[in-house]
Amino acid sequence: MTTRRTSLLAAGALLAAPALLTRRAEAQAAAPAAAGANPGFFRFKTGGFTVTTVHDGAGARPNPTQGFVRNAEPAAVEAALKEAFLPTDALSIPYTVPFVETPRGIVAFDTGTGAGKLAGNLAAAGIDPGKVQAVIFTHFHGDHVGGLIGQGDAAFFPNAEIIVPAAEWAYWMDEGNASRAPEAMKPAFANVRRRFAPYQGKVKQIASDAEVFPGITAIPTPGHTPGHTSYRLADGGQQAIILGDVTNRPELNLRNPGWHLVFDMDASAAEATRRRTFDMVATDRIRCVGYHFPFPANGYVAKDGNGYRFQPADWLANA
Ligand SMILES: [Zn+2]
Repeated sequence: MTTRRTSLLAAGALLAAPALLTRRAEAQAAAPAAAGANPGFFRFKTGGFTVTTVHDGAGARPNPTQGFVRNAEPAAVEAALKEAFLPTDALSIPYTVPFVETPRGIVAFDTGTGAGKLAGNLAAAGIDPGKVQAVIFTHFHGDHVGGLIGQGDAAFFPNAEIIVPAAEWAYWMDEGNASRAPEAMKPAFANVRRRFAPYQGKVKQIASDAEVFPGITAIPTPGHTPGHTSYRLADGGQQAIILGDVTNRPELNLRNPGWHLVFDMDASAAEATRRRTFDMVATDRIRCVGYHFPFPANGYVAKDGNGYRFQPADWLANA
């Protein structure tokens, strides 16, 4: 009896197997290839706004204890990485682009690197780049402007108005700044021109404290770049702040706001901006989205000793 039952079960398993394999193949065919096995997007609500953070992949910084933080000893950087359970030989720097659905349409904050996972993860999130109404920039570093263009350097957001901080535009588009830049910086100036090229006539420059969209207001946060700008979302009594690069990985210069990472163009202004911004979001308990935060790239900031602590938002809270 046992033998017969076992063999019947085995036969059943054999019959079931091809159907199972077919279903699995169909599921794989339906999934966007670039999204991989893990979720590449995350949603939460701020009042009537829906924020979707869309992952674009990550860069790698080799030897992060050596020269990455200009004004900290390698041992101190190593200790901070260990405290956060991060590797000390190479540091992953994630890129995550927030998209916000508003009653007036979808807006993006920055665009990703242009060479990562954004397109695949946008498809997985059901966001059509052709339906993005506005792309609002925090600043013009390559990992933020790269995704303005896609195949053949065509506009990746063909119907979007491009909203830029006037101070950031003035700095990068100035031919004098471009020609006086050290050799190592010249490609960054050329890159900005190439990425914005297909959007001629669609770029709107804004003041650093302007209301850029109903319920979305600029906050000047200079230092990382000359015109770096963050944005406050406010609706229905709730708020969130799109930080941009006020900090890089929070385990480094949010935990230690006095640390000057190599990417900050005016390090002391960037530090003053960090302290002012983190004091504000910690006191007012405002949810923050950070471009280089670990995915899903949003949470809260608490004061902790002489620095701050990043508290990721509950995955299911306010979903
Ligand atoms: Zn960045």
